[in-house]
This record gives sequence, C-alpha cells and structure tokens, in this order.
Amino acid sequence: YAKDDQQNRHEYYRDTMRDGTYHEFVLGNELRRALKNEEFQVYYQLQCDVKSGEPYGVEALVRWSHPEKGNVPPGEFLSTAEAVGVIADIDEYVLQKSLQQVQQWREDGHGHLQLSVNVSQQQFERYNFMEIVADALEKSRIDPTYVTLEITETTMLTQVHYATEKLEALKELGVNIAIDDFGTGYSSLRQLQLLPIDILKIDRSFVKDSDGQDHDASMVRTIINLANNLDCQVICEGVETNEQLTFIKNENCDYAQGYLFNRPQPANDVTKRLTE
Ligand code: C2E
Ligand code: MG
Ligand code: MG
Ligand code: MG
Repeated sequence: YAKDDQQNRHEYYRDTMRDGTYHEFVLGNELRRALKNEEFQVYYQLQCDVKSGEPYGVEALVRWSHPEKGNVPPGEFLSTAEAVGVIADIDEYVLQKSLQQVQQWREDGHGHLQLSVNVSQQQFERYNFMEIVADALEKSRIDPTYVTLEITETTMLTQVHYATEKLEALKELGVNIAIDDFGTGYSSLRQLQLLPIDILKIDRSFVKDSDGQDHDASMVRTIINLANNLDCQVICEGVETNEQLTFIKNENCDYAQGYLFNRPQPANDVTKRLTE
C-alpha cells in the first residue's frame, strides 16, 4: 500500500507541476503574441500637485486588451510575464510608447508634464537596460529631466550595491528615480541613504486608512518626514477621498495620485482632461 500511495503522490505532483507549467506556457505564448499584435495599451493616471490640485505628471500603466477575454488587469499577467521572461519586452514597449505620448503632450502645450514609468526587476537587471533607456529617450526627443523611472523597494534591495551603481548610471542620462510601493519592503535607513533616489512613492496600503487617527496616519507622516530628511519628493498613491487629500496636504506631501483625480485612462481621455 505504502508503495502505491507514494507512486500516486508522485504522479499527482508530476501532473500538477505539468499543469502549472502548461498554463504558464500557454499564457506565455499568448503574451508573446500579444506583443507582436500590439494588444498592449498604455493607460495614464494623473499625478497632481497637492497644493494646487493641478496635474504635474502621469504614470504609465500597462493594459492588455485580449481579443476574447477583454481587458486583463496587470495583476493577472505580470507575474507570468516575469516567469516566462517577457516582462522586460513589455516594459520596453510601454517605455517607448509613453515617452512618445508624453513628448507629444509636451509639444501640444503641456510643457510642464512629467512621465513616470514602471521598471520590473528583470528589466532593471538586463545588461543593456541603460542602452534601452538611452535609445528610447533619444527617439522621443524628450527632455530626460521630465522622466522618472519607478523601481520598487524590493528590486532595489535585492543587491543594494549593484542597484546603487546602476541607478547612478541611469541618473547620468538625466532621468529621475522613484522608489515605488515604499513601505512594503525592508530597507534600512542606511540603505536608503546610499540609494540615489529623487522621489518616494508611499504605497497605497498606507494611504487607505490615513484619514483617521490610527497608525496608518502616523506611518504616512513618518514616511513624509523621512523623505524630507532624504531630500526626496513624496507622492501618495491611492488617494480616493477629499479627507485623505486634506490629511496629506496638512502633512506637506508634495504630490498625490489616485481615483480622486482619475482612474488610469487611455491617452485620448487624458488629452481631454489636460485641456479642461
Ligand atoms: P503601481 O506602480 O504601484 O501602480 C499603482 C496602481 O495602483 C495601479 O494599478 C493603479 O491603477 C492603482 N491605483 C491608483 N490609484 C488608486 C486608487 O485610488 N485606488 C485603488 N484601489 N487603486 C489605485 P494597476 O494599473 O492595476 O497596476 C498594478 C501594478 O502593476 C503597478 O503598481 C505596477 O507595479 C505594475 N505595472 C503596471 N504597469 C506596468 C508596466 O508597464 N511595467 C511593469 N513592470 N509593471 C507595471
Ligand atoms: Mg508605479
Ligand atoms: Mg506604486
Ligand atoms: Mg503600489
């Protein structure tokens, strides 16, 4: 019996493993096909000045309009894209498209507009990432000081010394560096001090309940103070209510992003919004 059981278990694991791999294999192929067929779109979410409420920039967020499944949110395909190694190509596509779009807006009378783009860990670790960024900047002819690369705390912390060198090289291209989803990783103050970051983005999970007087409010306050001490600017993600906006305004947060201002939208809708 014992032997049979073991045999069965073995078969069971092999099957689930194969199924898992199979699912990834199928989705991976779909993602490659989607890239070729330009099924990915870039949506834009406004980043607003907290004091004036005016948009100062946009974050580019990828969307997949699947021919049968419709809109697939990034949470459902980015980890597979990472696992099968297509995430860096998706990032490159989003980078190129969004740089062109924002340069277009800038030429059309919104010369103050900034762009933030997300960089996955794989993209960040690509040996030629510098060249990819330099090429895309050159092609779009955008002023690089209006471009911010958003890199998560976790990506930066995987190999801090390697990351610091790479970030410094990127900064020589003229771009800004933001630390994304800040507060969800485990960076020490020492590490933060070493990293050449310009902007700190407070993760949505802290902002969510910050309009009360609970510990999230003091977390937000602490992170804003930390950013000030590090000479960084601060963006709060996930601002949904006027109460939250008032709270972060009183705490001297520089910028806010969230559904209160807009949901991520296609370029055309943002154009309308910008000319309002
Ligand atoms: P993120 O970079 O932290 O982007 C912010 C996410 O929060 C976006 O989700 C945005 O839609 C959502 N959000 C913004 N304001 C609010 C709000 O007020 N309430 C709520 N509930 N949500 C809000 P999205 O677009 O689904 O993207 C999720 C994550 O996927 C992003 O988090 C980013 O890590 C990743 N991502 C998106 N586009 C790209 C991309 O082109 N490349 C890479 N590597 N990652 C991307
Ligand atoms: Mg981001
Ligand atoms: Mg974020
Ligand atoms: Mg986030």
